[in-house]
Amino acid sequence: MEHFNTNQTISVDDGDPPLISEGMQACASQSVPETSDPKRAGVSLKDSRWGRTTKFRKTYFPDTTKEMWNDWHWQVSHRITTLAQISRFLTLTTEERQALENVESSFPFSITPYYLSLIDPTDVNSALRKSVVPTILESFTSPGESEDPLHEENTSPVPGIVHRYPDRALFLTTSFCSVYCRYCTRSRLVGGHTEPLETHWKKAIEYIRNTPAIRDVIISGGDPLTLSDEKIEWLLKEITSINHVEMVRIGTKVPMVLPQRITPNLLRILKRYKPIYLSVHCTHPDEITDESSKACNSLADAGVVMGSQTVLLKGVNDSVETLMELYHRLLKVRIKPYYLFQCDPITGSAHFRTTVDKGKELIAGLRGFTSGYAVPQYVIDTPGGGGKVPILPDYEVGQDEKNLYLRNYEGKVFAYPDRAQEGTGA
Ligand code: SF4
Repeated sequence: MEHFNTNQTISVDDGDPPLISEGMQACASQSVPETSDPKRAGVSLKDSRWGRTTKFRKTYFPDTTKEMWNDWHWQVSHRITTLAQISRFLTLTTEERQALENVESSFPFSITPYYLSLIDPTDVNSALRKSVVPTILESFTSPGESEDPLHEENTSPVPGIVHRYPDRALFLTTSFCSVYCRYCTRSRLVGGHTEPLETHWKKAIEYIRNTPAIRDVIISGGDPLTLSDEKIEWLLKEITSINHVEMVRIGTKVPMVLPQRITPNLLRILKRYKPIYLSVHCTHPDEITDESSKACNSLADAGVVMGSQTVLLKGVNDSVETLMELYHRLLKVRIKPYYLFQCDPITGSAHFRTTVDKGKELIAGLRGFTSGYAVPQYVIDTPGGGGKVPILPDYEVGQDEKNLYLRNYEGKVFAYPDRAQEGTGA
């Protein structure tokens, strides 16, 4: 293991996209073109997901070469972040417009041009649109909602660390994401509301180093893969140099919203620090494109083990067909469906939340009807900091002195001789 001088200065510029200068950002805000009519733009529902991104680039960014478009810095510096900018691409609903008029005082809004190219401008109910374009509904607080429903602040021994389970620690490394999901559990932290998380890195690593029970570190945020290569390597080197840390997980949505970030150099870095697990945040099958498939396959080729995390969202992915398609596509790009989360009761999320019965119904519609590999664990992260609790449809339908009775995916009941072993010494 290579040694690293911990006194080495690392630049901390949380809140700003790494390696992007203010000049570039100003340039980006001027460069969004005037075209707003999707018909004029020639981008329509009829275009396949595969062809739409190229058509979108040529229409809206005619002076942008393929090389520029495929540079993740270009994507970050050209993010769409204001009402004026998004209005040029989408005809906004009243609810969206009202929300965007106040976005500066609320949870920020940001979409990469690549991710925007996946949204059908003619469909106000597009799943991806609902998940990233704000609506006024998110400004209403419903009973049971709060800014920090999981009480992460109460289980934070030092800033930047959440230590809830004995052998795992969550390390919040950045508050920046290239795209802000409207249902984000950490909306209180991400988007630059708070002091930069990078100022806490050294103390957070010191806490992990001084806590031998921690064998699994989850690097999260914000989105850690939006950090520069140098910072990612610094973090991995520091964390993997701790003897009792056996594995590192990185929580990210980058392969889905900014696949251009998965560069050869980043892959070389990830390859150097095995075992690395990636928890890839995926929402909908429309996210699995040529670009994201290429990014995921490159990660798998680099030895990164990937599992998906999906939040169950009303009107976005709450159907068996949508989830099955998502999970099949994920498996094709070598991501194992891992968790399906019941949406946390974060402030302003009522319009996204399904009932738990709906979640159970969806899992029952997957289990048995497709490979077990395509079925994630459905969990509720319990409000109050109780941790994740798995939720299953009711497969156990009864028992007697001899048998446990189980209902299969077709609704047929079978007996398992659970009690038959008692007293046999088996
Ligand atoms: S990528 Fe994750 S941290 Fe960032 S806004 Fe989405 S849910 Fe929140």
